[in-house]
Amino acid sequence: MIYLGAHLSSAKGFYKMGQAALAMGADTFQCFLRNPRGARAKAVDPADLARLRELMAERRFGPFVAHAPYIMNPCSKDEGIRELAGRMMAEDLAVMAHLPGNYYNFHPGSHVGQGAEAGCRQIADMLDRVVGPEQQTVVLLETMAGKGSEVGGRFEELRMILDLASCRERLGVCLDTCHVSDGGYDIVDDLDGVLTEFDRVIGLDRLKAVHINDSMNPPGSRKDRHALIGQGTIGEEAIVRVLVHPALEGLPFLLETPTDDAGHGEEIRRLRERLGGV
Ligand code: FE
Ligand code: FE
Ligand code: ZN
Repeated sequence: MIYLGAHLSSAKGFYKMGQAALAMGADTFQCFLRNPRGARAKAVDPADLARLRELMAERRFGPFVAHAPYIMNPCSKDEGIRELAGRMMAEDLAVMAHLPGNYYNFHPGSHVGQGAEAGCRQIADMLDRVVGPEQQTVVLLETMAGKGSEVGGRFEELRMILDLASCRERLGVCLDTCHVSDGGYDIVDDLDGVLTEFDRVIGLDRLKAVHINDSMNPPGSRKDRHALIGQGTIGEEAIVRVLVHPALEGLPFLLETPTDDAGHGEEIRRLRERLGGV
């Protein structure tokens, strides 16, 4: 059983997203809870969330992942932006309370010259303000490409955030194949080595979801440009090895490749074919 899905491009309500995922042959999905580049939250309809919950149970979906808006930066130099990050996450987690047992993924942020350690401290502080003990959503830190002053390009930085946050038992990690490759981890020729390193530094028990993306740039480029599966520097073979790796069994795998729902459906079909109906 491999949970395979994609980041859905259209958000016309939660139940409809579940149906769109099914239509593309997926059994999990990812979505934004609000405009990814804007801060304003949409009002959500609890009945709509309840219908999605039922559909996911009925159709045996894997856990789904809500993705925080890109503008969220909990380690900005600007206190107002840090506060906005906490506010957005708190609001999003209130929505996720209607869908218990799923994940909320965010980019740790960019420290903009403050240094990675100061950045990690600010991120951990925000998490401790927002992620309460009643929380039934695991909040995921995404592995990043290390572009600019991005925090999370090294596993050690995610470890530092986990060490600094008291709410760490409600935190996990989402591994993005494009980002780790761009960050210099050799998932093409040494996937075992990368996962061993992940286990040593962070712990594989923390790994809750995987973004499967090819990359437009060579390993170590620190760029973060996603490519369609098989059309980048990672390649379909290496992506399939990620999907079937025993250390990643049972995790939701989500495409964030540069295409629409129909294109994602096509990629899912191709990958399932490669997997031979697993
Ligand atoms: Fe992301
Ligand atoms: Fe990602
Ligand atoms: Zn990315």
